[in-house]
Amino acid sequence: MPQRKIRRFYESDAKGIYDEDLIDEVGYGLLARCESFITANRARAGEVPCPKCAQPVRREEVLRCPCGWELRWADYFKTIQHKQLSGAEPVLEQFRDFVNAFPSARTPQEKVLLIDRLIHGFHLYYKTNGPTRPVAVNLIEGRLGDVVAFLDDLSYGEKSTAGTREKLAEWNKNIEVNRNWYPCRREAKPNPRMERTRAVDGTVATSDRDR
Ligand SMILES: [Zn+2]
Repeated sequence: MPQRKIRRFYESDAKGIYDEDLIDEVGYGLLARCESFITANRARAGEVPCPKCAQPVRREEVLRCPCGWELRWADYFKTIQHKQLSGAEPVLEQFRDFVNAFPSARTPQEKVLLIDRLIHGFHLYYKTNGPTRPVAVNLIEGRLGDVVAFLDDLSYGEKSTAGTREKLAEWNKNIEVNRNWYPCRREAKPNPRMERTRAVDGTVATSDRDR
């Protein structure tokens, strides 16, 4: 998913505008990305859904579907590797939840909250259940550091959908757990977004709007 679409999505939301075409474009774009991710993980585990007829095909040196589709596993694998399409069960669960919930969301508010929750999700460390990488790196173009800097810079305002700024505060806490991973967080100088998030927490007086 291109960053510019996500940026527009948050800009509209901060102004209190529900652009339903844009919301659907972003939502269904993310849904397709989640589906690719789920399919790639299924394939790694040994079962490839046939791209022609969707029947499950067992992973062997050559993938062969009864419908006639055939491909060498090595060639199939090239289509899914190096694309940030790999993750453990907690991530798959978040993505499956989105794929199931988004098409049946009724109101634009519901859709916005589902999108917002999805892109602020985290991979979890299996031993402690603590947050590790943000799942946004699997959903939005760019390297890890770029994606975090990008999400740090999204627009929020008084008119943003209720719940999104709380989600941002939670995201901040989770990112801070591994702040040394992110160039945009490593510098000692306080991040203006952090100030805003503390404001959301209610511990610092709310200042003016960001954009
Ligand atoms: Zn087939």
